[in-house]
Amino acid sequence: MRAFAEIDIAALKANLATIKARAGASRVMAVVKADAYGHGLLPCARAAQEAGAQWLGVALLEEALTLRSAGIKSRVLAWLCPPGSDFDEALRQDIDISISSHELLIEVIDSGKRVGVRPRVHLEIDTGLSRGGVLGSLDLLVEELKIAQDNKMIEVVGAWSHFARADEPGEAMNQEQVERYRSALQTLLNAGLKPPIHHLSNSAALFSIPDGKFEMVRTGIALYGLSPENKNLGSSEDLGLIPVMTLKAKLYLVKELPKGSTVGYGAIGKVDRETVIGVVAMGYGDGIPRNADSSVGIFVGGRRAPIIGRVSMDQFVVDLGADSTVKAGEIVTVFSGGLQGEYTADDWAKACGTINYEIVTRIGPRVPRISINDKPADT
Ligand SMILES: *Cc1c(COP(=O)(O)O)cnc(C)c1O
Repeated sequence: MRAFAEIDIAALKANLATIKARAGASRVMAVVKADAYGHGLLPCARAAQEAGAQWLGVALLEEALTLRSAGIKSRVLAWLCPPGSDFDEALRQDIDISISSHELLIEVIDSGKRVGVRPRVHLEIDTGLSRGGVLGSLDLLVEELKIAQDNKMIEVVGAWSHFARADEPGEAMNQEQVERYRSALQTLLNAGLKPPIHHLSNSAALFSIPDGKFEMVRTGIALYGLSPENKNLGSSEDLGLIPVMTLKAKLYLVKELPKGSTVGYGAIGKVDRETVIGVVAMGYGDGIPRNADSSVGIFVGGRRAPIIGRVSMDQFVVDLGADSTVKAGEIVTVFSGGLQGEYTADDWAKACGTINYEIVTRIGPRVPRISINDKPADT
């Protein structure tokens, strides 16, 4: 294989155990949106379930339906279903739907009538992120929810919100959001609504905001073994997490390059001594950011080889060093947990001015995901 991502299922399960221990009495929703942050939706969803995640969380309805088509039966919440979504199919497939507005509520109620199913809804409350969630019309929407529930047209299962700065534990905004959330729950209670599942925390909040847990936590990045924020919350290792994805690629070509050569488009890479370069068969067409610089590269033969020049669509060039004995066709590590000195997703994020979430999530469909350490080997 030209390039592939190894997905360490045992690591994912161990991460879920760490999350569960942190969550205490709260249930765990494994967030598997965006193809499980690039790790592969179905194997990750199944592993998370096997390790004890009671719920699965996705953004899109299509993602929820994919889970159902694969025979996954657990509770699934989809929180980004715009007006006009196929709510009929969502209800037939027993998917919980998040509601942020009157318009969405009406559509879901209409679908429920058509399909003959009582929709299970979660009310999203905007407590300061100013993204999804009801804000000014909370009282009105809560009244409507109460009437609809009394008329058996819906079941209000959850009420939830989302933090803006949970990766900055000292920020006053976190406590403000908890308070706004509590006050919104009081509004529901006053109207006679007590949804059984309140949920507020993401991975960062799980590690940093003890009173944010409520009945359920929604964890994504921690499940994949990455820290939500290395500086403020600590590294994967500090948090007891094991990175799940190892990205590997083959060397297409290895050759000597004379001193003074330039490398790649724009000739921005220069070698000031004779060296051996490796052409890695992977590029921005696979999700390797084009703006990666020489502070990252690959790991092969027990050492790092940094990028020279610009990443192109299908390949990038690394400096293997003049004394390198590495051969074309060898498989190199682009990133991994870093235990042997490999670059990590965090190193790549730093080199590219982004976060580890984006590095793993953007690895594209040309890169097969290979589950490893799945079932104990048959003997
Ligand atoms: C993506 C997402 C999460 C998971 O966030 P992590 O930081 O990856 O734990 C939780 N809740 C919502 C609403 C999300 O969109």
